[in-house]
Amino acid sequence: MQKTLPKKELLNFIKILMEKYEVIAPVKKDKVLSKFEIIKDPREIYLNEITTVPVKEFFIPEDETLVEFKDGNIIENKGEIKPRIIFGLRKCDINAIEVLDKVMPCSIYINKRKNTILIGIFCEKPDKYCFCESMELNDSGYDLFFYAKDKDYYITIGSKKGEAIVKYLNNAKKEIKLKYKNKKILYDKNIEHYYKNKIWDSDAEKCLSCSACTVYCPSCNCFDIKDTLNMNLKDGIRTRHEISCQLKSFSRVAGGKSFRDSRLSRFKHFVYHKIVYYKHRKGRYMCVGCGRCLRACPTKIDWVKTINILTGFKKKRK
Ligand code: SF4
Ligand code: SF4
Repeated sequence: MQKTLPKKELLNFIKILMEKYEVIAPVKKDKVLSKFEIIKDPREIYLNEITTVPVKEFFIPEDETLVEFKDGNIIENKGEIKPRIIFGLRKCDINAIEVLDKVMPCSIYINKRKNTILIGIFCEKPDKYCFCESMELNDSGYDLFFYAKDKDYYITIGSKKGEAIVKYLNNAKKEIKLKYKNKKILYDKNIEHYYKNKIWDSDAEKCLSCSACTVYCPSCNCFDIKDTLNMNLKDGIRTRHEISCQLKSFSRVAGGKSFRDSRLSRFKHFVYHKIVYYKHRKGRYMCVGCGRCLRACPTKIDWVKTINILTGFKKKRK
């Protein structure tokens, strides 16, 4: 069962949500940057493109205090937040949150998730870097999902929470489901056997180890834990910080040895973790095909193209 909302009523619909919830939605910041932000006015919402910055900062911020030690007391961050709605998530964004759900089992994350309603929207014009249709994404994980067609939004209900929000809207006379049309395709994901192929060298030579690919990736979630002690040597904080597998320090261990010393090994690790290792462990790709890493890379490394070329090699060898 779907509900319908006339497109011209969208701002009003958001306004009603804002009375009860904190609403987070895509906002265009300048010519190149768009990101999810807490909105003050529904007119701020910008739905014309996938956001440059992923939504993950609302669940795993770059820096977060986990515990505070003060006057002999331990004050835990319990992840308490106001009930909130994230509106305007793409299918890839929702699938990336599903990935985070599997790997972020701490109570801070879980509480934030419990208090967040996810509203997705269909991508009418997928970006030139997107290849989500290659990544076997789930059609789940949302509370509501909007499909724009003609003068209306057709809204699929994914949960009881979502149902309560759209209860007052009219039932749709027919069900609408639209097909994604990606410009970019990842043809072959069987890349296990190509780890040692020389083709990776040319990508790695261009890599600056800048970490943009992991920072902008909605499913990357690696972090480091740091304790900071005050001058009185009693009080302090324990914090969690985002880190990147593209940095040499990421795999440095006691004694100074780094297990991924070369840019080549770090770059390949990123790709193989997304496409191979995680799939073996959890049964799904960690990459959701959003293309943000390709878009953000300052030297325009296109690992999707590299994998597709490897597929060509495979065909030639047959
Ligand atoms: S690896 Fe790249 S394309 Fe895949 S989810 Fe991360 S940013 Fe998106
Ligand atoms: S964004 Fe590009 S240059 Fe930067 S670490 Fe990733 S692959 Fe390397």
